[in-house]
Formats: sequence, C-alpha cells, structure tokens
Amino acid sequence: MIPYGRQNISQEDIDVVSAVLRSDFLTQGPAIPHFECVVAQYTGARHALAVNSATSALHIACLALGLGAGDCLWTSPITFVASANCGLYCGARVDFVDIDETGNIGIAALEAKLACASRDGSLPKVLVAVHLAGLSCDMEAIAALAARYGVRVVEDASHAIGGRYQDAPVGNCRYSDITVFSFHPVKIVTTGEGGMALTNDDALAAHMDLLRSHGITRDPARMTHTPDGPWYYQQIALGFNYRITDMQAALGASQMTRIDEFVVKRNALSQRYDRLLANLPLDLPVHISQSYSARHIYVVRLRLALIGCSHREVFEGMRQRGIGVNLHYIPVYLQPWYKDMGFNPDDFPHSQAYYAQAISLPMYPDLTDFQQDQVVNALAELLA
Ligand SMILES: *Cc1c(COP(=O)(O)O)cnc(C)c1O
Repeated sequence: MIPYGRQNISQEDIDVVSAVLRSDFLTQGPAIPHFECVVAQYTGARHALAVNSATSALHIACLALGLGAGDCLWTSPITFVASANCGLYCGARVDFVDIDETGNIGIAALEAKLACASRDGSLPKVLVAVHLAGLSCDMEAIAALAARYGVRVVEDASHAIGGRYQDAPVGNCRYSDITVFSFHPVKIVTTGEGGMALTNDDALAAHMDLLRSHGITRDPARMTHTPDGPWYYQQIALGFNYRITDMQAALGASQMTRIDEFVVKRNALSQRYDRLLANLPLDLPVHISQSYSARHIYVVRLRLALIGCSHREVFEGMRQRGIGVNLHYIPVYLQPWYKDMGFNPDDFPHSQAYYAQAISLPMYPDLTDFQQDQVVNALAELLA
C-alpha cells in the first residue's frame, strides 16, 4: 500500500537522537531550547515553545488567551478534531465557520457570522484559523475582522510549517496571537509526537511556558514570597505535563535542516499531480497568489455529476488498488461528541459538499514518480 503520508528519516536524524540517548539529559536538556531557537529563527516569531503535541499547544494557547466557561471558540469544520477540542477542554462552547473553495474558513462567511454574533452578543473569544493542506488562510483579512470585533486569533498551522504567506514564513504571528505547529510523522517535519506554540507576545509566552509544566515556576520574581531555599519552586497555575523530550527535540532540529527541501519536493509532486490529473473530472487544489503552500496533503474533489460511480466507490477502488487514500476531514460537527450541541449541517453547505467529494492522494517527499503514476493511473481507471 502506498501510504497517504510518510516521514523522511536520515542517518543524521538517527545519529542526533542516539547522541541524546548517550548524553546526560533525556528530557529538559539543551536539545529543547536549541529546537525552539531553530524554529523561532526559521519563522521569525519571538517565542517558540515546544510541547508534546499540537493538541497540547492548542490547549495552552486557548488557556493563555483566557478562554473559559461562558466563552466561545470558532474554527473550521474541515479540520482535525483537535482544532475544536481545545475549546471544549477550556469549558468553552465551540462553533464553526463554513469553508470556501480554498478549503479554509471563508472570509465572507466569517464576516457575516461575526456581524450576526455582534448583534446578538455571542461573539467568540478565540478564532482558530486552520491552514488546510498547508495553504495559509487569508490572515490579513482575518486579522482585520478579528481586530474589528475583538477576537483573539490562533493559527492552527499543523499542516503549514515551511509554507509562506505574503512572502513571509507561516508562524511569524504577524496576523495572529499564537501559531501552532504539529510534528506528527505525517506532517511536514516530525519529532514522533510533538508540537510547538509560537508568539510575539512576551506575556502569552510566559503563560504558556508555565502551563506546559504543571504551572510551576522557579523564577523568584513570580513567587508570592522569597524562596524558602535553593530547592524552592512554586505552583502558581494549574498546568500540565505537556513537555517534549530531548530525543524528540533533537530529531526536530535535525529535520528542520531539510524543511525547505521537503516543501520544495512536495510542491514539485503537487505540480506533477496538477499536470497529470488536469483532464480528469476533478477539482484540483486551489492556488492563491499570496500563499505558498507547504503541501501537507493533496486533496482532489470528485465532480460527481460527471462520474459513473460514487465517492465511496472511488475511495474503496483506490484502496483495493493499493493506494492509501484518505479523507481530510469529516466535518467536526458531524462527530458524535459534537452531535448533541445542536449543529445543523445545512448551515455549512460548502463543508457538506467538500465532505461528499474530497479524497487525499498520497503526498510525501519520498513519493517516487513511478508511485505517483500508479496513483494517477488507478484514479483515471476508476473515473473512466
Ligand atoms: C495533526 C493535527 C493536529 C494535532 O496534532 P498533534 O500533534 O497530533 O496533536 C491539530 N490540527 C490539525 C489541523 C492537524 O492536522
């Protein structure tokens, strides 16, 4: 089976992880600040905090922004459940904004929903903007709307490290409070499990730093009284153990040396798919001039009216032919956990249409032209 995504691990990656295993620190050693420094420099963000997953990063991002009971978080329905669950973790309500043809939150839909929420006093505290497939949302437009309505913005850039927006790296937080990356093995660079929260705001960074490790500080300036002795620390918030290990951070820093190579290769594969699939009854990924996508996934949408079989038949036919297609994503409001919250699928017509048509084709740097031809041929055969 050709998988839909796969990590690239070099001898150098293996060597740096082995070196950590032979060193004094398996966790909380020098590899973590080094990795954070590498990602902060790459993106241009002032602060980068490594944690054990993007899910954890989203959670502490929402908490640092003050999200709590009585508040509301908005995100895209076409995302991994973690983009929405972070709101529920904080006791907030979650609502969704329909997508547009890019697969990201539609700016017109967002503007209309904000205007409506403003009238009835139900504005969200936090908007999680998801850069689907690695294509940045129109962050300038989102930031302008967020400023007008007093909404804080988190970028869920789990797909998008290595991507660019307005010719600057995704993650620079120019148009958001916090940006989150994932380092799961199917993503652009990996640490096994892992994530990061980036921000230009010193107070948000300090708050997230506290929350990722039990809410404990060793900084006398933040304590309620002078330390009892050299052993002393204080717990001043209810935090978590969301720490990453040095083995993971070393792997991440090593992966970062190849990130541009990975993203260039993903874009080359994507352009090759665009050419080879151009004459099939499909809608191909949309290109946006101001966004250079990291191409985490390559999603085609079936033009079902022109095809003799169903979405499911095409999906199953691909799997039967050894092609590990996937579907990113089932609209979150359709998940059983969300069902009782009273969402009406008719409120999200573009997300419903997307779910009925979308298939993710294999996309990862080591996908060969020969494998890609197998994918294209299988799809062409099924759509004929
Ligand atoms: C993968 C992913 C996450 C969660 O990442 P983890 O590191 O696995 O916690 C969150 N949001 C999106 C959009 C993702 O694709």
